[in-house]
Amino acid sequence: MSSTLRFNAVEEAFKKQPRVPVSPGKFTSEYYGKYVFNDAAMSKYLSKDTYRALKNVIDKGENLTLQVADQVAAGMKRWAMELGATHYTHWFQPLTGGTAEKHDSFIEYESAPGGDIIEEFTGKLLVQAEPDASSFPSGGIRSTFEARGYTGWDPASPAFVKGNTLCIPTVFISYKGEALDYKAPLLKSIASVNKAATAVCNYFDTRVKKVYAYLGWEQEYFLVDEGLFATRPDLVLTGRTLIGHESAKLQQLEDHYFGAIPGRVAAYMEDLEYEGYKYGIPLKTCHNEVAPNQFELAPIYSEMNVAVDQNLIIMNIMETLAMKHGFRLLLHEKPFAGINGSGKHCNWSLGTDTGVGLFTPGKTPKENLQFITFIVNALMMAYKHGRLLKASILTATNAHRLGANEAPPAIISAFLGSQIGNILDKIEHSDTKHDIVLDAKHALKLGIAHIPDLMQDNTDRNRTSPFAFTGNRFEFRAVGSSANCSPALIVLNTAMADQLTQFKQDVDNKIKAGEKKENAIFQVLKEYIKICKPVCFDGNGYSKEWEEEAKRRGLDCEKSCPKLYDAYTNQKSVEMFERMNVMSQLELTARNEIKYETYSKKIAIESRVLGNMALNHIIPVALRYQDMLIDSIAKLKQVLSAEKVDKIGKESIDEIEEIATCISEVKRNVQKMVAAREKALAIENQKDMANAFHDEVEPYFDKIRKPIDRLEFIVDNEMWPLPKYRELLFIR
Ligand code: ADP
Ligand code: MG
Repeated sequence: MSSTLRFNAVEEAFKKQPRVPVSPGKFTSEYYGKYVFNDAAMSKYLSKDTYRALKNVIDKGENLTLQVADQVAAGMKRWAMELGATHYTHWFQPLTGGTAEKHDSFIEYESAPGGDIIEEFTGKLLVQAEPDASSFPSGGIRSTFEARGYTGWDPASPAFVKGNTLCIPTVFISYKGEALDYKAPLLKSIASVNKAATAVCNYFDTRVKKVYAYLGWEQEYFLVDEGLFATRPDLVLTGRTLIGHESAKLQQLEDHYFGAIPGRVAAYMEDLEYEGYKYGIPLKTCHNEVAPNQFELAPIYSEMNVAVDQNLIIMNIMETLAMKHGFRLLLHEKPFAGINGSGKHCNWSLGTDTGVGLFTPGKTPKENLQFITFIVNALMMAYKHGRLLKASILTATNAHRLGANEAPPAIISAFLGSQIGNILDKIEHSDTKHDIVLDAKHALKLGIAHIPDLMQDNTDRNRTSPFAFTGNRFEFRAVGSSANCSPALIVLNTAMADQLTQFKQDVDNKIKAGEKKENAIFQVLKEYIKICKPVCFDGNGYSKEWEEEAKRRGLDCEKSCPKLYDAYTNQKSVEMFERMNVMSQLELTARNEIKYETYSKKIAIESRVLGNMALNHIIPVALRYQDMLIDSIAKLKQVLSAEKVDKIGKESIDEIEEIATCISEVKRNVQKMVAAREKALAIENQKDMANAFHDEVEPYFDKIRKPIDRLEFIVDNEMWPLPKYRELLFIR
């Protein structure tokens, strides 16, 4: 593509913008949650009895009768039709990522076929459906010929209307009840952590009946001009640039983060916020991120199950709206080399039904003992399951971020800050021979009398830690921007539940042996603090020294994505998932099969796109430019003496040689990559295939990219067939 054409593409996209968002009304509260069947809609469209019955199902987990389901369906239908819905769908989260829907119309014949048409939506249709599921991955749980998967309504996630369709959030399970999606195990993990955490809370406060898991996600993303996007086969087919010489200016001035948001992007963000509000998503921050063209969107945190749904809804809206604004949304974790990638920080916390945040320092020594109990157990969890936590966030796309010089490092460590670190030190070295008295004086010695509430806006924030305590929550920063948050949360919840169960057992044993409750808790915490120390690290997580130190501490430093997936199926993990009633061995194995398969497919696609671009786009152009140089030397010889040409034509001849070398390097490595790919594809076992793609195919990507990027630097700008980083990365 010549630079004139590239310029035209930008102009085309530019003409679409800026546009001013439709004025949504005076107050956000007027349209907030308009498209969600929330509490207000429920109480308006359901009878008092039905409303109460449904609330009991949601809050207390009571069984849903078909009669109540019928009533709910009728109310929901009326509400949805008033918003223009003509169809309904069970909306679910298959393991392919993203969301899936199968739309059915409300229409039915009133009595006999051929008769009058009415809109119908019954409790049965609301509660269960059987989508034609044969094309969704099941990792062998549900062999394709029986193609039976069921979707089942999750009453705890509010239904919503999208376009002309009523969307009903559902789980997706096999005929025998195994989870084929992300939601089913997420719900189970939430239940498991609720149970275990409530039991521990009861040491401190017997009024606690329920512990909620909370999530506040921060979604990072890139925008590029739609016109330019369309001319990059790598962006279109893989979501990232496989080649591209870095721009002279990238993020080194760090001027994007605090810079003004370009007008077109501001209009997009405004629209996005408005749409989000209509879906009841409490969006709070929209701002620039570190890299050029990179932005972030974050809501106020909420109950985890709902927060995950909302993230998926907004990802979908982001994509559609971007096109409306002449952009393309890139959710890929590493769309551009040399600048930061995108993550989705998952702010994770637990809180009681009595309104206490379990990672929030309290006001009294007793509350603080509870706080420290949960912090220490979270550290134990991260210490024991570092490898599994890493596996939970790893995908072919997120692997590009992992271990790069930006969050997250390939080692799971936890940042605490000096304040909490000091308290743990004090407890570790405290004298527990005497009875612990939770009065102010005693507590002062232990450092838990009063913990100032200053972490949240404190300077003490470490951006290089993958699992950072940030005042009232842990921020798991390793999650990828394109991912469903659930796999990471499932591991966090389940491992925490298991850890808390162990803690309860250890404390109870000491109590049985005659210890006072507070003493027992203290002693167990002391032991735990010693054990989990290696995972605590407040230094620079990106440094080389840390990698070496982490190895010495015995932390897991593996980076290979397919190798790490094993963390799900080793005995320790299987037993834990089964103990906590979250997933069975069969489910874990099946899900890993899908991960291996997805990994191989992604690398295979990238490898084909890269090969094509190298051979069809780049080499022909490089050859043409090389010819031009050769021509010019030949012509010089017509007007100048051979001796002079030898002298002043030297640089050009060197350049010709360099181009020839690059071309040969590209060709040779593409050939080798293709051979490695075919070999990998012939492997039957999914795990071995994924490993072959990782070890044998992917290493060629860099070997092919490097000479191509060099060519981009040398070849006439007018001839270069693809938009360059400097054009892709700076929206006007
Ligand atoms: P930063 O970019 O500095 O990490 P943000 O303000 O962008 O901070 O995001 C912080 C996120 O953490 C928000 O989504 C916020 O709602 C969420 N959050 C705050 N407190 C909690 C909590 N107790 N539990 C879970 N998430 C929380
Ligand atoms: Mg953050």
